[in-house]
Amino acid sequence: MARLPVAVIGAGPQGLAAAAHLLERDIEPVVLEAGMKPAAAVREWGHVRMFSAWDELVDAAAARLLAPTGWTAPQGGYPTGQQWIDAYLAPLAAALGERIHYGARVSGVSRRGRDRLVSADRDGQPFVIHVMDRDGTESRFEVSAVIDASGTWYQPNPVGADGLPAIGEREAATAGVLSYAPPTAVQAAAFAGKHVVIVGSGHSAMTAVIEVAAVAQRNQGTRLTWVMRRGEVGNAFGGGAADALPQRGALGQRAREAVDAGLVELATGFRTEGVRLVDDTAVLVAEDGRQLPAAEHVVALTGFRPDLSFLTEMRLDLDPVLQAPVKLAPEIDPNVHSCGSVPPHGAQELAHPETGLYLVGMKSYGRAPTFLAMTGYEQVRSVAAELAGDYDSARRVGLVLPETGVCSGGGLSADAELTLSGNASPQ
Ligand SMILES: Cc1cc2nc3c(=O)[nH]c(=O)nc-3n(C[C@H](O)[C@H](O)[C@H](O)COP(=O)(O)OP(=O)(O)OC[C@H]3O[C@@H](n4cnc5c(N)ncnc54)[C@H](O)[C@@H]3O)c2cc1C
Repeated sequence: MARLPVAVIGAGPQGLAAAAHLLERDIEPVVLEAGMKPAAAVREWGHVRMFSAWDELVDAAAARLLAPTGWTAPQGGYPTGQQWIDAYLAPLAAALGERIHYGARVSGVSRRGRDRLVSADRDGQPFVIHVMDRDGTESRFEVSAVIDASGTWYQPNPVGADGLPAIGEREAATAGVLSYAPPTAVQAAAFAGKHVVIVGSGHSAMTAVIEVAAVAQRNQGTRLTWVMRRGEVGNAFGGGAADALPQRGALGQRAREAVDAGLVELATGFRTEGVRLVDDTAVLVAEDGRQLPAAEHVVALTGFRPDLSFLTEMRLDLDPVLQAPVKLAPEIDPNVHSCGSVPPHGAQELAHPETGLYLVGMKSYGRAPTFLAMTGYEQVRSVAAELAGDYDSARRVGLVLPETGVCSGGGLSADAELTLSGNASPQ
C-alpha cells in the first residue's frame, strides 16, 4: 500500500497545494482533473476580483516547490481569479508536471474488492479510483489514500426555495434565460434596457447586483430586481467598514449604495417555487403566490453544494445539515460563525470512518459559504502530515483568519465601475 500513490481529486487551488505538501513528504501524488487545464472552476469566474489579497492566496509548500523555477510570489493587491491562475496556479501546475492528468473525471471511489457493506480487512485494502476520460472511456487504478479537493462550483444551488429546482427552472436554464454564474462585464452590459432578476444574498449575488446596477445607472429602462428568501436585507450587506477583509467589506457597502440609490428593487421574503417561461422571458413565482414582472434574464447565485455522487461506496461521516464532516460542521455553521471565527483544523477534524479518505478545500465545507483558501492550505498541510505518519505535525494546526463578514463569493469584475457616490469607485 505504501508504494501506491495518493490520489488527489481536482487540480484547483487546494488540490494543487495538497500535491505540493505530499511531495514535500516524499509521497507521490496523482492529481485527477476533470477540466483540460488547471483550476478549471476558478477559470469560470476568472473575471471576478477576489476579496483576498495575494499573501492569503499562496500556499507555503507550493511556494517552496516553485522557488527553484525562478517564480516569485506576487505582492500586494487583490488579483482576479484569472490573475490567480496566471501568476500562481498555472506555474504551480506546470511544476507538478505529469503528476496531473487532465480530462480525467473521477466517477467513483471504492476499496479493492469491497463495497460499502464489507468490513473485513477494509482498511488493509487500497482505494480503487474510477476515472472517465474525455471520450467516455472508463479506467480504474489503485491508490493508498484519497484527498478529494473537487470543490463545489459545478453543483450550484437551484433557485427553488426548498432546495429543489423550481418547477420550470431546468427548462429556463436550458433556454438560456436563467444562469448560475456571476455575469462578466460584457454579459452585464448586454442587460442594458432589460429586466434582470438576481437571486441570492451572498457575496456573489452582491457582486452581480453592483455590476448590473452600474449598467442600470448608465442605461435608462434597465430594471434590476434582487430576490432573497430572507425577510429583511439586513446583514446580507456583511461586515462593511468593520470587515477585516477590506475588499469584502467594500462589496457590501457598494451593494447597499446601489439599493439606496434606487437602482435595485428588492423582493425580500420571496421563496421561489416556479419559473414560468413566457416567450423569451422568465416569470418567477413565489410560494405565497407573488409573481415578479417578466425578466429577460435570471441570474441564480444561491450558493453551492458538494457532489457526493462518486463517493457512494465510501463510509462518510457528514453532518446532516451542512454535509460537512461532523467534527467540522459546528465550527463552520454560517448561523454561528463567520470565516474569521472558524478555528484552524486539519486531518483529525476532516477524518471519516473510511480511513485514508479526506474531503478538503471548498468541498469540506459542504453547503457552508464561509470557506477561505488559507483555511484549506492548513487543511492539506495537516492531511499530508497525517498520511506521512507525522501525527504531531498533523495535529499542530494553527492559523489566524480575518474576522467578520460572511466570506463566500468574490469581488467585482476587473473592469467594473460603479460611481454611485464619491467613495464608491472600485478599490
Ligand atoms: C466568485 C468567487 C470568488 C471567490 N473569492 C475568493 C476569495 O477572494 N478568497 C478566497 O479565499 N476564496 C474565494 N472563493 C472561494 C474559492 O472557490 C476557493 O478559495 C477556491 O477556489 C477553492 O479551491 P478548491 O480547490 O477547494 O475548489 P475549486 O477551485 O472548485 O477546484 C476544484 C477542481 O476540481 C475539479 N473537479 C471537480 N469535480 C471533479 C471530478 N469528479 N473529477 C476530477 N476533477 C474534478 C474542478 O474542475 C476544479 O478544477 C471564491 C469563490 C467564488 C465562486
